[in-house]
Amino acid sequence: MDYRMCPLGEIVSITDEQHQLVIRGSLYTSVGMVRGNNEDNVQLWALDNALLGVVADGMGGAAAGEEASRLAIETFQSDFLDTLPDSKTLLTLEEETLEQKLRGVMGMANRVLLNKANENQEFQGMGTTATLVLVRGNAATFAHIGDSRAYLIDGTTDDIHQVTSDHSFVEALVASGHLTKEQAEIHPLKNVLYRALGQKDEAEEDVDIYQRILKPGDRLILCSDGLTRHLKNQDIADIATTTSHPETAAEKLVELANLRGGEDNVSVVVLMVDRL
Ligand code: CA
Repeated sequence: MDYRMCPLGEIVSITDEQHQLVIRGSLYTSVGMVRGNNEDNVQLWALDNALLGVVADGMGGAAAGEEASRLAIETFQSDFLDTLPDSKTLLTLEEETLEQKLRGVMGMANRVLLNKANENQEFQGMGTTATLVLVRGNAATFAHIGDSRAYLIDGTTDDIHQVTSDHSFVEALVASGHLTKEQAEIHPLKNVLYRALGQKDEAEEDVDIYQRILKPGDRLILCSDGLTRHLKNQDIADIATTTSHPETAAEKLVELANLRGGEDNVSVVVLMVDRL
């Protein structure tokens, strides 16, 4: 199937006549100010009338982390996009079928990582987060595992809402009332995940799926934890709603994380929904 990958700092866009929407997207990634290598991988593909964006944050040590997030993104392209005969097929897929496909390709990426780790000593224990969104017209479907995040900023109220839940032990303790949000932010184990790709035999059931309907003014952000380590939700919402172009917003978000210390690799995908 024909698609186009968005180069860093550029824009891709689609239009949806039926809902009178134009959706523009961009992406940005940075090694940050402290780390020696970038274990994040980020991609945004533009199809006819659909956009697929993903952020993956690898782990397992320098080379292994880079390889894990790269392999996941390569699998989304080869085992999802490349298996669709044309973009019309994608647009007419029932929501339930699409969700099964997204779960399936996450499972495939999980197996690719496990196989690679089994074959190579240096890649043992590698894993990655993956937060993915597919936008078809005004419908956004998310598939998520790990602690990268998707945020939706409401174009009417400017309220920011975290779509995904972090699959971290600390977040689970917050959810069960054992820790406060404030305690969680400074907890020494806050980066330890209980779900990620490449960690155990089956991953399909560990993938969370969400759907949202998009309307004019909405902004959608995918990011690795290198962004949220330094930016509060309100910082993200402010940049997303006061910046007119997605490539500028993506760069501004990453720059602010780096200005505030850039302790980790930082990656974002920004989608802007506007009236056609
Ligand atoms: Ca990270």
